[in-house]
Order: sequence, then C-alpha cells, then structure tokens
Amino acid sequence: MALERTFSIIKPDATRRNITGKVLSYIEAAGLRVVAQKRLHLTKEQAEGFYAVHKERPFFNDLVAFMISGPVVVQVLEGENAVATYREVMGATNPANAAEGTIRKDLAESIEANSVHGSDAPETAAQEIAYFFKDEEIVG
Ligand code: UDP
Repeated sequence: MALERTFSIIKPDATRRNITGKVLSYIEAAGLRVVAQKRLHLTKEQAEGFYAVHKERPFFNDLVAFMISGPVVVQVLEGENAVATYREVMGATNPANAAEGTIRKDLAESIEANSVHGSDAPETAAQEIAYFFKDEEIVG
C-alpha cells in the first residue's frame, strides 16, 4: 500500500485542556507520522471557509464559533492508508457512539467539541492540506 496523506485539526477543546500531546500519542501509535504542523487561531473567515460544505446545516454557526474559541493545531499526517486509518483512530463524530480506544471516545467533550478533525477522503485531504500548508512546509 502506498503512503497517503491526510489533514488533521486538533480542536480548541483539546488545546484548552492542554492535551495536544495526548492526542498526538494516539496518532503516532496508529503508525501515522506528523509531516507538517502549526498552531493557529483561526479567523472566522478561515473557519467558515474550511467548513463551507456544512454551511446549510443547523450546527454551522455554533461550529464556527467553537472553532475560533481558542487555538487549534493543524497537521498533515502521513502513513499507509492515512485517511481511513486516522478516521478509525478518531472514532465516530459523537463521542457517545465512538468505539473504545478512539480519540473521541477517550478525550472528546461533546458532538461539537470532539477534539479532532480528519479528512473524509483523499481528494478532500488534498484540498484541506492546501488550505493551510504550502508544499515546502511539508517535510516527509
Ligand atoms: N458537528 C456538530 N453537530 C453535529 C454534527 C457535527 O457540532 O450534529 C460538528 C463536529 O465538530 C464535527 C463537525 O461538525 O466534527 C463536522 O461534522 P462531520 O459530520 O463532517 O463530522 P466528522 O467528519 O468531523 O466526524
């Protein structure tokens, strides 16, 4: 299987609780490697643009407010089958439904404040990576 990249956000609920290292330990234990990373405080425009696909959903405004409520850590992760591997490690969107041993089961606070974002497909991953990183910022 070829190496693949995915895009990750460690969300404000995790930076607020100072558990970004704990989240990272799940990522690395799954065999994924951080090949780019930075800490940012998203602007409203950045958060709205990133989640534009959800703009008609009832939770959109609250989600944007949450995503700008504190710093985030954006990352590019690399590994075999990285998109699917990370989705598995993240667990279901709602932590109440997330499998044992996943980031969201163990660490998330709620369906909204669910600690991490991960791309849902390789095409989305490429778009999301390009939204935050220049090619030269990614060191594989
Ligand atoms: N979200 C929310 N309420 C919902 C569904 C989703 O606040 O009812 C938030 C949550 O933070 C989630 C994000 O919107 O991670 C994007 O939703 P999506 O369905 O894409 O879930 P994900 O791919 O993150 O599991």
